[in-house]
Amino acid sequence: MLSSISTARRYFGLLALLWTALHPISSFAWGYKGHRVVGSIADQLLTDNAKQHVAQILGFDLKTAGPWLDCVKAVMRKADGTFSYTTDPNHPEYEVPCTSFRTPDEQQRMEDYVARNWMQCSYMTSGVERGCHNTYHFDDVAVQRDRFDRNYQGTNDHDLVAAMNAAIAVLLGRPSPRPFAIKDKKEALFVLSHLVGDLHQPLHIGAVYLDSAGRVVDPDVTHTVDPATETAGGNLITDDRKNFHGEWDAIPGDLGEAATPELLTTARGVPADHGRLENWPANWATDTLLIAQEMFSSASYAPSGSKWTITFPDRDAYLRQADGVKRRQLAKAGARLAEVLNAIWP
Ligand SMILES: [Zn+2]
Repeated sequence: MLSSISTARRYFGLLALLWTALHPISSFAWGYKGHRVVGSIADQLLTDNAKQHVAQILGFDLKTAGPWLDCVKAVMRKADGTFSYTTDPNHPEYEVPCTSFRTPDEQQRMEDYVARNWMQCSYMTSGVERGCHNTYHFDDVAVQRDRFDRNYQGTNDHDLVAAMNAAIAVLLGRPSPRPFAIKDKKEALFVLSHLVGDLHQPLHIGAVYLDSAGRVVDPDVTHTVDPATETAGGNLITDDRKNFHGEWDAIPGDLGEAATPELLTTARGVPADHGRLENWPANWATDTLLIAQEMFSSASYAPSGSKWTITFPDRDAYLRQADGVKRRQLAKAGARLAEVLNAIWP
């Protein structure tokens, strides 16, 4: 299990500098369009009762809400310890999915959320504290594992699966479990509608761990993670000069920003979940982990100036396969977001 300290170390030193350069590319998992697509599918699969609750509590549809948890990344801690939403003048495009949340009330909600979710764990990059809430978006389970388990390396009590369960608890009327500070059902819907999307991006659950020569190692056997060889969820891997994580975040261009008839058909065919609602996020993480395992299975790695390069026996075939996987994963995410909300408000 990665402690907060080892999480903090994951982008230490030079890696941290690289991460700073790459972070803007990767800060919107699936890209905001992917989160909109997931929300849009769910909007159309909600029961009337669930739809009414979402509208009443959230005041937005799920398509609009999906990117919110990435928008809050613009909230920075100032020298005096207060938090304020700060736009990046070099990247006005980051604001595109966030404009709905720039009213005074909504902006204050974002700042308040980040202030409440900053200190519970440490997340340092470039020697700067990025705030605990930035860890809620991912796990780094080794692709050798066959299931998600909190005992494995790359998981912790403030990871993606834990954050989803925290949001579900609040939506069920229970207190926000520590270390999360989710203040009400509206915030829980913002968190959940985003994280169900993140959980279905294979690189947000599965990770490859390498030795200094680029050979795959198993951190659950060695019980160590060498910060010098970390792949940072694929952010430190380059595929054909592109950020590998970013390549996976990009959704097929023809999908646009909303559910397509094909995605809705696929979503309607996603098998229903059974058992306790609280186990669904871990089960879904296992499902995603097996996909990550498959998508890394033919890859090889070599050290390079930008940290790692990845190669495949047939890259075109890989990209075609990835295209299909992305469509299925977006459909599954939309179906499961609706499923969990329909279970909460039957
Ligand atoms: Zn995210």
